[in-house]
Amino acid sequence: MKELIYFDNAATTPIRPEVYEEIKPYIEEHFGNPSSIYSIARDSKKAIDKARQQVADALNAQPAEIYFTGCGSESDNWVLKGVSSALKNKGNHIITTCIEHHAILHTCEYLEKNGFEVTYLPVDEYGKISLDDLKAAIRPETILVSVMFANNEIGTVEPIKEIGAICHEKGIYFHTDAVQAFGHIKIDVQDMNIDFLSISGHKIGAPKGIGALYIRKGCKIDNLIHGGQQERGRRAGTENVIGIVALGKAAEMAMAEIDEVTAKLTYLRDKLINSLLSKIDYARLNGHPVDRLPGNVNISFEFIEGESMLLLLDNYGICASSGSACTSGSLDPSHVLLAIGLPHEKAHGSLRISLGYQNTEEQVDKLIEVLPPIVQRLRDMSPLYEEIKNKNK
Ligand SMILES: *Cc1c(COP(=O)(O)O)cnc(C)c1O
Repeated sequence: MKELIYFDNAATTPIRPEVYEEIKPYIEEHFGNPSSIYSIARDSKKAIDKARQQVADALNAQPAEIYFTGCGSESDNWVLKGVSSALKNKGNHIITTCIEHHAILHTCEYLEKNGFEVTYLPVDEYGKISLDDLKAAIRPETILVSVMFANNEIGTVEPIKEIGAICHEKGIYFHTDAVQAFGHIKIDVQDMNIDFLSISGHKIGAPKGIGALYIRKGCKIDNLIHGGQQERGRRAGTENVIGIVALGKAAEMAMAEIDEVTAKLTYLRDKLINSLLSKIDYARLNGHPVDRLPGNVNISFEFIEGESMLLLLDNYGICASSGSACTSGSLDPSHVLLAIGLPHEKAHGSLRISLGYQNTEEQVDKLIEVLPPIVQRLRDMSPLYEEIKNKNK
């Protein structure tokens, strides 16, 4: 059997072996409901407390400011809907960006249908917002600014600390979708003036179906699920103990290894970028050259379709993505690639490679070996490429 080469860590990650070991007892024996009072229930309760502390430590937050949710999308929905509802008498204006994940964008569309106004900040050719644009967009009715920490498609890291400072000065809540950044970039909610922050377990080696929302103490937000007293009454429902334990362990491990993993991934990322751009013509890097996630490579190859590249890569056991997992299955080019100014035809030929701690240099070398002939093979079938070649003769 050929080796699986998994380069789609921005879409999801495998469960880390150490995380699996940590959750095993909660699958096999400690099944007690954390709200009950006998000892196996207390074990579950203690495990949740420990995980809450682990996640809080990773953000320089207090455990009481961490709320476990079902996923990153739920955390994003909760902030936008919960703050809008809690502050509707103060104002009806929200500022976000045009490159957010759909969990933010589609929630904003929903709010727009319900009386809120949303400003979508544009980005430059590297995917960064401008702080001047942000300042100019702020109105007396602005109640929330939501800017993602790092983009899931092109890896660009936004100037979060500067955005936080502007919001703080104006007394406006600041939320960041840190699903891609968490565990990869050091985050300090105090230093960065972050009021709300979303994370997701399955992007950092925990299972799917667990996320968390950081809510700064004292910030106003409506409760999400009404029911029992779980998550201090704000997000009721018997806790996903297994997911919570996993998220805590995964967060702790990611933070313990962050310097080492960042160095390794940055090296592999830059090797991939430099080699592919030098071996393949009519190719360009998408996203910021320096301020980008350590594991993110996003390159557009002209004259071909990203999906055809993915199918041929799959023959070698290589998993990657064409821009965004959320847009595959639809023919629309990614909203992020269009926002950085790529014309449709270049956006269509984009490939996202997202590396994880488990990837090796041999795997990266394999991709550098197999991708140039794949691109050539597809271009040889393209009439457009034929035309350009003839022109340049
Ligand atoms: C994956 C992702 C989400 C959604 O997280 P889920 O846990 O899959 O719902 C939100 N925002 C960003 C930036 C993501 O990459």
